[in-house]
Amino acid sequence: MVIYRSTRGLSPPVPFDQAVLEGFSADGGLFVPDPVPRLTDARLQHWKSLGYVDLAKEVMSCYIDPEVVPKQDLGRLLDDSFTAFEHPDPPLVPLDKDGQSWILELFHGPTLSFKDIAMGFLIRMMDYLLDRNDERLSLILATTGDTGPAAAYAAAGRERINCWPLYPAGMISLEQEMQMTTVGAENVCPVAVHGCSNGGDDLDVVAARLFGDEPLKKRLKLSSVNSINIGRVLMQTVHYFYAYFRVAERLGDPLIFSIPAGAFGNFCGGALARAMGLPIQFVCATNKNGTLHRIFSQGVFAKRPLRHSLSSAIDIVVPYNFWRFLYLASSGDAELVNRAVVEFERDGTVQFDDALYDKLRYGVVSTSVSDARTLSTMSDLFQRTGYLLDPHGAVAVAGAEQCREKFAGDIACVSVATAHPAKFPEVIKQALPAGRQLPEAALHPSIEMAKQAATRLLTCRLEELEHRLQEEIETSLRG
Ligand SMILES: *Cc1c(COP(=O)(O)O)cnc(C)c1O
Repeated sequence: MVIYRSTRGLSPPVPFDQAVLEGFSADGGLFVPDPVPRLTDARLQHWKSLGYVDLAKEVMSCYIDPEVVPKQDLGRLLDDSFTAFEHPDPPLVPLDKDGQSWILELFHGPTLSFKDIAMGFLIRMMDYLLDRNDERLSLILATTGDTGPAAAYAAAGRERINCWPLYPAGMISLEQEMQMTTVGAENVCPVAVHGCSNGGDDLDVVAARLFGDEPLKKRLKLSSVNSINIGRVLMQTVHYFYAYFRVAERLGDPLIFSIPAGAFGNFCGGALARAMGLPIQFVCATNKNGTLHRIFSQGVFAKRPLRHSLSSAIDIVVPYNFWRFLYLASSGDAELVNRAVVEFERDGTVQFDDALYDKLRYGVVSTSVSDARTLSTMSDLFQRTGYLLDPHGAVAVAGAEQCREKFAGDIACVSVATAHPAKFPEVIKQALPAGRQLPEAALHPSIEMAKQAATRLLTCRLEELEHRLQEEIETSLRG
């Protein structure tokens, strides 16, 4: 039986369904699975040849007991999650001739970012559980650009869910904004919030306040599908297995993943896959908001003011999934995590002692990629091969290059491309020579279609957001 514990250890563990529907644990911690299953070689051997959806069924049934969700229902939900994808198997693109450098394209879902993979599953799972319990939920989620579209698309038309994606106005690309505001569903209402000097983090603060008010949370039936939700992190373990099986020559060979890290949820999926027995190592690639880089290079978790970068989806000051990583790295020491959270909330900074810092760094190197390097990585690769990266995939590729010499021997590296370039035409224009037209690879029919569709959105200022949201949600629940 897998149970879900809080990283802070102050609330009793809960089963999968409750962890997914509640998002946060009652003590404010994040849910983590216990035990993390260890896979045998025979099991890995069997998984090696599976396609993505079948692999996802295997991986997810390690975490979801059949008494909680019958295997058949889980299988159906996973099948359904990928129907809107161009193809469920993510392509692996070689960047060289000797098989040392690869790109894993995770952006072939309906809103062209890797968030579709986990969001499509999570929202279907929630809808299924809500239906079973005859309940409803109001989802509020802060987005730095891609969570909102993925959630809006997955939630559109689902009877038991109302969805309020919140985004910092003017800080996401026009394309991302359109993807959210044109889904054309009554139950999805994006909110453009003005005055967020700390970007998406300001919205996280409002969301955390609402979630922290237990009576209000109950009354408004609030939950979240940000990557605080363990359902997303679990689903994000699958692509590490999938890519490993495609790239590693033999089971047991080491492999590096370079991951553009924002809230650190995708990375935590990789950390879980490693804890399950996959022999993988990581490059934690950040942009100039290098909170995570400071953790892995200096042993300090410290907030710094937000800086806007060209890789805006990872402009994050507090990568909240780090607490999950700390929990895993400290072998489930919830007391330690809780102390660190309290210290961080009080001082805005935590310094880890040497022993813990060594555990954190095990198999992880980090780097910070400048905007100039992001652009030159995009333009060099495009001019050399015609392959166009989005700015986040570029952070991964540049991060892998910057960390090359930190790994012993010739270990192959997979850079995780998290978004389609069509979501960031303004950055592409900057990367390519002046006056050059957008190449074919920077266009996508779904974005062109969104330009024609009717929009729906609410606008408000950060100071009004809390109040305004409450009103809107109350109205929706009466309706
Ligand atoms: C969300 C996002 C990331 C960061 O993922 P996290 O799980 O938040 O670390 C990276 N790239 C893109 C394009 C994203 O949308």
